[in-house]
Amino acid sequence: MLRIGCHLSSAKGYLAMGKDAVKIGANTFQFFTRNPRGAKAKELNVTDIEEYLKFAAEHGLAQILAHAPYTLNASAKDPALRQFTCETMCDDLSRLEYIPGAMYNFHPGSHVQQGAKQGIVYISELLNQINLHGYQTTILLETMAGKGTEMGRSFEELSAIIERVEDSSHLGVCLDTCHVFDGGYDIVHSLDSILEEFDQIIGLERLKAIHLNDSKNGLGSHKDRHEKIGQGEIGLQAFVQIVRHPCLRQLPFYLETPNDLKGYQREIALLREKAEHEEA
Ligand code: FE
Ligand code: FE
Ligand code: ZN
Repeated sequence: MLRIGCHLSSAKGYLAMGKDAVKIGANTFQFFTRNPRGAKAKELNVTDIEEYLKFAAEHGLAQILAHAPYTLNASAKDPALRQFTCETMCDDLSRLEYIPGAMYNFHPGSHVQQGAKQGIVYISELLNQINLHGYQTTILLETMAGKGTEMGRSFEELSAIIERVEDSSHLGVCLDTCHVFDGGYDIVHSLDSILEEFDQIIGLERLKAIHLNDSKNGLGSHKDRHEKIGQGEIGLQAFVQIVRHPCLRQLPFYLETPNDLKGYQREIALLREKAEHEEA
C-alpha cells in the first residue's frame, strides 16, 4: 500500500495532525518542528504525543517526517549562525526522540560567499557534531533547486557531504521532485537513468523519502516554485511513473503542493488510484 501524506500545520499538536491526516486519506504526514521562519519551539507536550502515538497505531499512521525551519543555515560563513543551526537541530532531534521511527529533513543551506567546497565542509562538520549526541532519528538532506548559492543542488554535492560524516548510518536523502527538476534532472523523460545516477553517486539505500511537487517552471530553471500535481511542467504522467517505480514505491511520499486539506485529499486519492490500479 502506497505510503502518502502531505505537509500539515503543527500549530495544534501531534494528535490534531494525525486526525487531519486520517481525514484526508493519508497514512503519513510532514510538519515543521517550529515556525518555519521563527526560532522558538513550543513546549513539549508529552500527553499530546502519547495520545498521538496511540491514535497513530490504531489508524496505521507510520514514520512521519519532521521538517527543520528555513531560518537554519548549516553552511553559513558566520560561525554564530552555524552554532544556532546546530543548537536548533539538536533541540528538534531531542524532541523527536519521543516519536519512534520519525525522520528529520533539512535544507543543506546556502554557502553565500565562501563557495560550495567550504559549504560542504561546514555541513559535514555540523552533522558530525550532532552525531555525538546519539539521537535515534534518521536525518535527511533534501535535494535542492539550486536557487542562488543553495547547497544540495546536485547528487555530487550531497554525496560529498555524506562522505565526510564519520557515522552516516543515520543519514539519508529526501528527493524533492520540483527541486531536482528545477535543478536540471529530467525526471519526466529520464527517470530510470536519473535513479541510476543517484544510485552510483549517493546510493539508492540512502533515499528515504520523496517530496511530490509539480513545478511552475521548466527543467533547470533553479526557481523552486511548487505547483499542484499535474498542473505544472512535470505533469501527471511523471508522477504516476514515480509512485509506481520499483525503486521508489516502498518509500513514503509527501505532497508540498499549494493546496488546502481538500486539495491534498484529492491529490492523495488520485495518486493512490494511479499507483494501485493502473499500468505504468
Ligand atoms: Fe523542504
Ligand atoms: Fe521539499
Ligand atoms: Zn521547494
